[in-house]
Amino acid sequence: MKIVILSGKGGTGKSCMTSAIALNIEKCILVDADVDCPNQHILFKGNETSRKQFSASKLAVIGKNEPGEKDYEGICEFGAIKKEEGKIKIIENRCEGCKACVIAFPELEIELIPRNSGELIVKETEKFPLVYGKLVPGEAGSGKVVFEIKKIAEKISNEKNIPVTLIDAPAGIGCPVIAAVTGCDYVVGVVEPTPASIANVERALEVVKHFNIPYSMVMNKKGISEKYENEIRKKFKDLVVAEIPYDEEVPKMLAEGIPPVLGKGEAAKSLKEMAEKINEVVG
Ligand code: SF4
Repeated sequence: MKIVILSGKGGTGKSCMTSAIALNIEKCILVDADVDCPNQHILFKGNETSRKQFSASKLAVIGKNEPGEKDYEGICEFGAIKKEEGKIKIIENRCEGCKACVIAFPELEIELIPRNSGELIVKETEKFPLVYGKLVPGEAGSGKVVFEIKKIAEKISNEKNIPVTLIDAPAGIGCPVIAAVTGCDYVVGVVEPTPASIANVERALEVVKHFNIPYSMVMNKKGISEKYENEIRKKFKDLVVAEIPYDEEVPKMLAEGIPPVLGKGEAAKSLKEMAEKINEVVG
């Protein structure tokens, strides 16, 4: 079974919920699909068992830099081609690998080579394997990285007979979120009582509804706004399976790199109860 935890908006506590659920499930594999800024490896230390580079895009490289009198700069929509002192220069971070220059300038013998987009990493933590990706800053292809780390997780779960895959989705509603949600069996939506969080989770849930995936909701940071807490209860009704109180212990534990569910405060207690409920719902 594949369970995705998503929130739409960043900073709602999605990773905190994921870590609590991961620690409560007997046998699972954890996938941190926030490939721009993964953080589960900060909470769950372990031994790295695999790391490999990943390419999601291509880069133009000139084979024969002997240009003629053509308009070399004009062909590139992304402004990645410059002519300087009689030579052609490709500005790497602007090249989108669209191939237009390859076709337009055969005399330059341009090739498209795989660009390093990031790394795919597997760690064996004390309780479960953790799979995550790290995208090179500014690189495109986050959705492809999410697909790749999900494939790695699937292989490990088949080999080790692990019944549950937990996926910590990235913020937003873009390509990596769709990649995280595709093919999953259940979604846990995390929302905090703020108008931005409610609006963002509703947008993210449009993706979930599109795929007809069952879901439940967890309200985090209860106590910061009665008005928006009531709005969440009214909007999501019985889908709200847990309400986690705002608790200063949570950021303190995160600052120490410890999953907040291991704390002693009110939030830790509610996180444990929430994880047990999710376990029951999906069990
Ligand atoms: S591959 Fe496309 S984006 Fe890259 S330099 Fe050539 S024309 Fe520009």
